[in-house]
Formats: sequence, structure tokens, C-alpha cells
Amino acid sequence: MSRVFNFSAGPSVLPEVVLKQAAEEMLDYKGSGMSVMEMSHRSKVYDNIIKEAEQDLRDLMDIPDNYKVLFLQGGASQQFAAVPMNLMKNGVADYIITGQWAKKAYEEAKKYGKANAIASSADKTFSYIPDCSDLPISEDADYVYICHNNTIYGTAYKELPNTKGKILVADMSSDILSQPVNVSDYGLIFFGVQKNVGPAGVVVVIIREDLIRDDLPAYVPTMLKYKTQADNDSLYNTPPCYGIYICGLVFKWVKEMGGLSAMKAHNEKKAQILYNFLDSSKMFRGTVEKKDRSLMNVPFVTGNEELDAKFVKEATAAGFVNLKGHRTVGGMRASIYNAMPIEGVEKLVAFMKDFEEKNS
Ligand SMILES: *Cc1c(COP(=O)(O)O)cnc(C)c1O
Repeated sequence: MSRVFNFSAGPSVLPEVVLKQAAEEMLDYKGSGMSVMEMSHRSKVYDNIIKEAEQDLRDLMDIPDNYKVLFLQGGASQQFAAVPMNLMKNGVADYIITGQWAKKAYEEAKKYGKANAIASSADKTFSYIPDCSDLPISEDADYVYICHNNTIYGTAYKELPNTKGKILVADMSSDILSQPVNVSDYGLIFFGVQKNVGPAGVVVVIIREDLIRDDLPAYVPTMLKYKTQADNDSLYNTPPCYGIYICGLVFKWVKEMGGLSAMKAHNEKKAQILYNFLDSSKMFRGTVEKKDRSLMNVPFVTGNEELDAKFVKEATAAGFVNLKGHRTVGGMRASIYNAMPIEGVEKLVAFMKDFEEKNS
């Protein structure tokens, strides 16, 4: 068996110890005589799995008691519809467009009400986060929406927008658990788990209880009402049982790593190694404004498409995989999520130095 250094933007690298534990527990989960995949979601043993996962996430993020944690399906994209369906009371919401995921959420919200794009960084290929200190927030906005870390472009909010008292909703799919979060700054946080937490398909919603309503338009599917899911502790129907189990193992791993402050230090160290090299290199350079750089996704280019392709090819052969950049940015992108060890980034930088020497 040989494992590569996987820099994929998602689905992405998971902690090796978690994969090993899942393998060990595959045939017989804790003496139950069956795999987690094979057991009833109404059984005592599964109830412990989902309850523990929720409690561990609550501990890690210090989630206040007046917030519900929901384990749902449909990935992050399903929430692009669920959020406006559930939160639009006045039928108005303000969106800050910092990349494709924010844009998709905005386009989807338009189906259910009046969605306003109140700021955007599309003018420079989403290479920065707009100044959000004094935005034209709509008087009757039900919420202000952000994508907290822009997976494709490699930017992240270092400061939250001034929402002028409106509820903040954030897509944290690609930076959840990478650093501490003050949950009470948000009305709703959601994350698809396949970047930093677990297998694709599961999406976690953390929602302030007073935002859970029953007076929704008749068209809202039962499954997409937060009320349905909250009233049934995420067990209205069969949840993505196995995926939630893996998420639970990753939550325990993050706890063992020292929690979110330790995770932040670990991620800053990795990002610094890579960004420092990009800033000193004569061949490679980062593509976004320094002040807005993501800790998780690091896009970079050589400025020469042929050289980019050569780099990706040789890196792959050397065991550094999934470094090809998103088609809208070109070049390369190294996603260095929680589970990427420091060693992986150090070795990548050594490989980049060597490539630069040989090709200049
Ligand atoms: C990957 C990603 C998504 C899409 O997630 P799906 O689970 O595929 O729907 C949405 N938002 C962000 C920020 C992402 O990184």
C-alpha cells in the first residue's frame, strides 16, 4: 500500500488514523456483529453514533444551546435552495459574490425571492474579498449571505461583513473546523463535509432555533424544512448513516489534535510554508491578494501554461496529486485541509524548488 499526498479540493484527504479505524470497524462495529452501513438508524448503537457526533461538534465549535445541529443530505448545494426557502420571510436576501459557490447560491435564491448581489469581486476573477464594512444592506433583508472560504479562488474572509443587524448566513464547506468560529455571529452555518470532515453527500446545518419556522410556503418539500429535521433530530428519514459515522470519527480526531485553536496553528504553519515559498520564488506566484489568502486552498501559477502542465504532470508522477487548478483560474491549486500533514507541504515545496531550478 502506498498513499499519495492528495491536494484535492474535494473530496479530499482524510486523517489516516480515521480511515484505519473505519477499516477495523468495518465488519463488526463495537461488538454489534455488523457494519455501521448495515444497522438500523433507529437502533441504540446508531443513536449513540449520531448523538456523539453532534456532541463532539458542539464541543469543538462551542455551539450555544440555542442552536440546532442537523445532519442532512444533498451536499452543500442543496442548502443553496433550503436557505432561502426557510429563511426568506420578507422574500429578500443580500448576497456577497466572492466566487462560483456564492454565485450559485445567489442564482438559486432568486427562484424563491428577491436576491440582491450587494458586492462582488468578479471584476478581478474573484482574487480578493470586497470591502464589506459599509455595504448597501437591504432594509428588509432576511439575511446576508457569504461563502466564508472560496475553495476555487483561494480567498477567505478575515473579518465578517457588517450586516447592519441582519442575520449572517455562511457556507463554510471548505474551512469548517480549520480555525475557531464564534457561532453566535451567525444565524446559520452550513458545510458540505467532503472538504474537511468526511464523505461527500452529508451536509451539516447549524441554525439558531428562532430561525426554524413552520409558516413556510406550501411548495417547500417536507425534507427541506429545517423544522422537519430539527423536530426529528435529523432522523425524519434514513440519514446518510455511514457518512455521519465517519464525520464523528473525524470530530474525535480534531479533538485529539487539540481542538480548533491547535488546528488553526497547524494550518497557519502549513500555509506559511507554501505562501513564503510562492513569495520568494521567481517561477511560481500566488494568484490572490495577500490579505485575503485562504489557509485551505492555495492557487498558484507560473505564468506559462505549458510549464504549468509540465509541473502538474511531474508532480503527479512524484506522488503529489490533484494539483491542477480549477479551469476558471488555470495553473495549480494546492488544497491543504486539516488532514494534510505538514510533511506533505514541506515535501511539495521541496519538489517545487527542485522543479524551478531544473526549469529556469
Ligand atoms: C465544494 C463546495 C460546495 C459544493 O458542495 P456539494 O456538496 O458538492 O454540493 C459548496 N460550497 C463550497 C464553499 C464548496 O467548497
